[in-house]
Amino acid sequence: MNKKILVVEDEKTLVRALKFNLEKEGFQVGVAYDGQEALEAMEKEEPDLVLLDLMLPEVDGYEVCRSIRRESEVPIIMLTARDEDIDKILGLELGADDYITKPFNIRELVARIKAPLRRAGAQSYAGKKVIKRGPLQIDLIKHKVTIEGREAPLTSKEYTLLSFLASNPGRVYSREQLLEQVWGYEYCGDARTVDVHIRHLREKIEKRPAEPELILTVWGTGYKFREG
Ligand code: CA
Repeated sequence: MNKKILVVEDEKTLVRALKFNLEKEGFQVGVAYDGQEALEAMEKEEPDLVLLDLMLPEVDGYEVCRSIRRESEVPIIMLTARDEDIDKILGLELGADDYITKPFNIRELVARIKAPLRRAGAQSYAGKKVIKRGPLQIDLIKHKVTIEGREAPLTSKEYTLLSFLASNPGRVYSREQLLEQVWGYEYCGDARTVDVHIRHLREKIEKRPAEPELILTVWGTGYKFREG
C-alpha cells in the first residue's frame, strides 16, 4: 500500500504542484482546501502524514493541528510564513513534528515528507524498557516520561529526541546527526528545529533549564545526554 499524504492548503496552484510531485514519488494524495474539510478528511482518509498550511480560511491551521493532535500522533509538517512562531508550532500547544517555510523547494519538501514515513515504527532501543537517570525516568514501553515521579507533558517529537539521546548517554551528536537520527533527514532540515526542541525539553525536564544537568550542550559540536 502506498502511503497517503493529506495536503491541507487553500492556494490551488500550490496544491496542484504538491499533488503532482507527491504522486510522482508514489504517494497517494488527499486534498483539503480549508480547515473544516481537513478535519473531515482526517476521519475519512486516515492519512499517514499531514502537510498543513497555517493560513487557511474557516478553521485556521493552528486549530486544525490542535484538533488532529487530540486524536492522533500522525506526523504533521506545517507550511508556514517566515515570521511564524516556531516555538508555538513545535511546542506542546500544537505539537507539529516539523515546519517548512514558504516559499520552499519541492525536492526538500519531498525529502522531509519521506523521512518520518520511513522511520515510522522503526524506533527500538535495544530491548530496554526503562531508562533512569537522576530524577528522570523514561518508560520506553508506555512512552511516558516522569521527573521526580511527576509526568512530564512532552510532544511526540520531544519524547523521541529525549529517548534517543538518553539511550546513548555520553555520546555527542551534532544537530545534523540528530536531524538524521530523530527526524530521519539526511541532507535537509533546519538545525533550529533541533535547538527549539532541546530548549522545550529542558524547560520540562531540567530543574534549572539554563544550567542543564541532563541534556548537555557541547559547544561547537552539539548535544549529549549525561553519563552515569
Ligand atoms: Ca494558505
